[in-house]
Amino acid sequence: MAHKMIPEQDNVFIALGRLLHETAYENKGEKDVVIDNIKLDLVQKGKGKTIVGEVKKSKYSLEGARDQLLFYLMKLKEMGVEAEGLILIPKENKRLPVVLEIEEEKRIRNMCDEIQKLVDSPIPPIERSQNRCKNCAYYTYCWV
Ligand code: SF4
Repeated sequence: MAHKMIPEQDNVFIALGRLLHETAYENKGEKDVVIDNIKLDLVQKGKGKTIVGEVKKSKYSLEGARDQLLFYLMKLKEMGVEAEGLILIPKENKRLPVVLEIEEEKRIRNMCDEIQKLVDSPIPPIERSQNRCKNCAYYTYCWV
């Protein structure tokens, strides 16, 4: 993504995510808010604070969703916006709160540094595995 390589749009998981995103949380806030290099699924006004929602298909891969939301909260904080996050799983009717604590912020900053090293390296040091890669929307780039 850092190199502007677009994932396959006809990948079934991408299509499902798009459908879910289009149909869930109608009239519950502002959807698809783009600020700088981040795109927020949903922005709501909470009690005296901004709430940022990240919509997910299921409870799987929640760790990544949480880190993604923490990154958004960190970027908003840099812009002077204090916000809290919510991971939203409409199919399971779940709303999981995410708050950016100091330690989490340090961890996300370190993660960003590591990602930048990967982006700057000529070949990413990632081993492919059929199991992990089979549903990936970058499959064609890596395997074909
Ligand atoms: S196909 Fe596998 S190695 Fe390639 S981007 Fe996807 S998960 Fe990573």
